[in-house]
Amino acid sequence: MSALFNNYARRPVHLVEGQGTRVMDDQGKEYLDFTSGIAVVSLGHAHPAIVEAVQKQSEKLWHTSNIFASPEQEKLAASLVNDTHFGHVFFCNSGAEANEAAIKLARKHTQKHTIITFEQSFHGRTIATMSATGQKKVQEGFGPLLEKFKTIPYNDIDTLKAAVDDEVAAIMLEVIQGEGGVNPVSPEFAQAISDICQEKGILLIVDEVQTGIGRTGTRYAYEQTVLKPDIMSLAKGLGGGFPIGAMLGTPALFDAFGPGSHATTFGGNPLGVAVAQTVIDHVFQDDFLKQVNELSSYLVEQLKSVLPEDRFTVRGSGLLVGVACQEEVASYISKAEEAGLLVVQAGPHVIRLLPPLTVTKEEIDKAVELLASVLGIPVS
Ligand code: PLP
Repeated sequence: MSALFNNYARRPVHLVEGQGTRVMDDQGKEYLDFTSGIAVVSLGHAHPAIVEAVQKQSEKLWHTSNIFASPEQEKLAASLVNDTHFGHVFFCNSGAEANEAAIKLARKHTQKHTIITFEQSFHGRTIATMSATGQKKVQEGFGPLLEKFKTIPYNDIDTLKAAVDDEVAAIMLEVIQGEGGVNPVSPEFAQAISDICQEKGILLIVDEVQTGIGRTGTRYAYEQTVLKPDIMSLAKGLGGGFPIGAMLGTPALFDAFGPGSHATTFGGNPLGVAVAQTVIDHVFQDDFLKQVNELSSYLVEQLKSVLPEDRFTVRGSGLLVGVACQEEVASYISKAEEAGLLVVQAGPHVIRLLPPLTVTKEEIDKAVELLASVLGIPVS
């Protein structure tokens, strides 16, 4: 019997090495990794600049504490807020922790408690972020949930209008629901959220744990919408594989988090910051983001050219792409793995493709060919 808890449905593949988009298992079998560790390995596996950053920093200093000054954190925070309307950053270690900080900041600033969230959303596994998550399967058996989360249908303007009252501190959403099925916010819904937040003085929290850091072809996914979040959470791609998360807030929220109000021991740890700075220095370049968009168009075009429209819908943005199928997709995921392609599910009907942002066109060609054959579609 395993010495591990059984909380992951692990696939029987032991990955031991990676380079770019390719990973290898302990039997020497190679796979194209179109999961990126679920939107984490943004620059691919073992990117030389990341390896160098880890090596250099690990020889200098691993950890101090947030009781000491950190010009490195200051620099990374400035890189994240540069050219945005955000003013300040709190560093932590994961997406759930970034969302916890977001919820706490919204409550502290507004002195209100209700947070509106959406069905099929995913915000994490802590008690607060699980309560914010709009998926029963995530919550089952762990109640009572934290009070004051109102979960309503996504992209439904009338229900949103009806849900708003004077108790609402914030509306919290993913610009594209990642785990929930690669569901983008509609332009009309984004406009309605934006109007309501402005009219009623409600804060907007955008969870960009999965969509942030270039994943959707812009630095942050909200930049492709009318949304202007007051608070944003980041993690996953920020560390390129090293655990680091961040919560960004506007200057108006600065006073709500005074000394001693919120903290985490490892947040903004020197190793994590060194790696994240390297990721940002690469990804936040116009040329890099332009290439992500080109690769995205290419991936979507290739998928659409082989997958019949009456059976499959291709959606998403940047290199967060979902192939929605009429049937359940669990068996396709394992067949793809057998064929040498790693992909991940998003809800019961969607195959999610999340290659590293450094994927090549040749790798996309190969992945599309493998996926088509797994889906039983002849490719000429
Ligand atoms: N928010 C979103 C949108 C996510 O996709 C995830 C993880 O999948 C989380 C939050 C939770 O992040 P973590 O697993 O790092 O706590």
